[in-house]
Amino acid sequence: MNGVNDKILAKKVAKHSNNIRNGLDVLPSLKYGVPSGMGNVRWTSDLILSTYYQAKNGNPPNNGLNYLTGASKGGFDCIHFKREKEILETEISRTDEKNIDLSISLNKKKVGRKLDIKIPAYGGGMSFGSVSLNFMISRAMAAKELGTLTCTGEGGYPEPLMKFKDHIIVQLATGMFGVREETLQIAPVIEFKYAQGAKPGLGGHLLADKVTAAVAKMRESTEFTSLYSPFPFHSVYSVEDHKKHVDWVKTINPYALVSVKVSTPRDVDMVAIGSYYAGAEIIHIDGAYGGTGAAPEIAKKNIAMPIEYAIPIVHKYLIKEGVRDDVTLIASGGIRTAFDAAKAIALGADGVVIGTSEAVAVGCTHCGNCERGRGCQIGITTTDPELSLFIDPIWGSKRIINMYKSWIIQWRKILAALGLSSIRELVGKNEVLYYKKQVF
Ligand code: SF4
Repeated sequence: MNGVNDKILAKKVAKHSNNIRNGLDVLPSLKYGVPSGMGNVRWTSDLILSTYYQAKNGNPPNNGLNYLTGASKGGFDCIHFKREKEILETEISRTDEKNIDLSISLNKKKVGRKLDIKIPAYGGGMSFGSVSLNFMISRAMAAKELGTLTCTGEGGYPEPLMKFKDHIIVQLATGMFGVREETLQIAPVIEFKYAQGAKPGLGGHLLADKVTAAVAKMRESTEFTSLYSPFPFHSVYSVEDHKKHVDWVKTINPYALVSVKVSTPRDVDMVAIGSYYAGAEIIHIDGAYGGTGAAPEIAKKNIAMPIEYAIPIVHKYLIKEGVRDDVTLIASGGIRTAFDAAKAIALGADGVVIGTSEAVAVGCTHCGNCERGRGCQIGITTTDPELSLFIDPIWGSKRIINMYKSWIIQWRKILAALGLSSIRELVGKNEVLYYKKQVF
């Protein structure tokens, strides 16, 4: 980090240490103030603390914390709603709550099972192995309560998730770790992970220390041995190959919707249209900047196209090809806040996938230790049985639900201020946005 950012961060840390001492929000890990150096230009200390606040209180902060943008000088931090002031001042009444619809459809085709989720967001894949079972259960409980979904990631389907099965997306990735016919058969959505925006071209890796007995058993591998998922699926090099994959899972589970998760290369529009013709109901594009501390920083920032650029490219191309109304376009990769999500929708996505923000809701400090030793010291990205106990699933689910409750308020304010009655009306309405350079 350069000197200028160090000074900005130091000021913010001082300011928010005071907030925390004054009882704004106290998590066990932060009892004595903000750890020095918390956050970065994308996830500033303000964004982290405002997410803690929302996870605790269920509404946006009113104490000066910036919960709208980070300080990256790019992307969503430079995109604003033209009526931002009006949006922030809009009061939401009970009538608005009933009249403003936040649900989205995950199958827009004329055929197949209909599946709507109540909010325009669902939880992204975080595998058993990369995160703790208690964090997975917290996310599943929250998804059920919110009427949305969460995703297993590629490490298998732990038994305690079964009671949330209608809300669990089963991921099928290149390593095929934990893939079982019986769990594919109960999935409402099956997600093929072809690539991840945080590390396109690199596949996945789970270092030996985190491959405990339970993880090894689930992944049918050997304890304390590093596990690598290759890139790409070596059985898929064309749309036809891809269609064979889709047909294969639809034979196992004809009721499941198929989502195709891809990163954002330059020809992301071609990838998207190919996925549609292969039979997918959901095209999930994953841009740069997502991922936990397990993804290498150099890969997160420098390989995939940022999602803000990729969304309009894909949205417009699907319109040009005449299929936009038949496919659900989902975006992820660095979407941190309710406003980021709404901006992604105004740029052309139907909805978004959230990962890191849910981790922040349960106390992630962005320390980057996810893959070191036994993993996360506060129980999020760890498989250590003792460290995992730091996340109590009931407490964790409440934090995640509260964060989304606050996001729901913000989405409704945005729609009310723009005179819209449904989040679906916001899709591709990019005239409500403008670009403003960030200057510090
Ligand atoms: S180790 Fe834990 S607190 Fe640190 S970045 Fe990873 S999830 Fe967040």
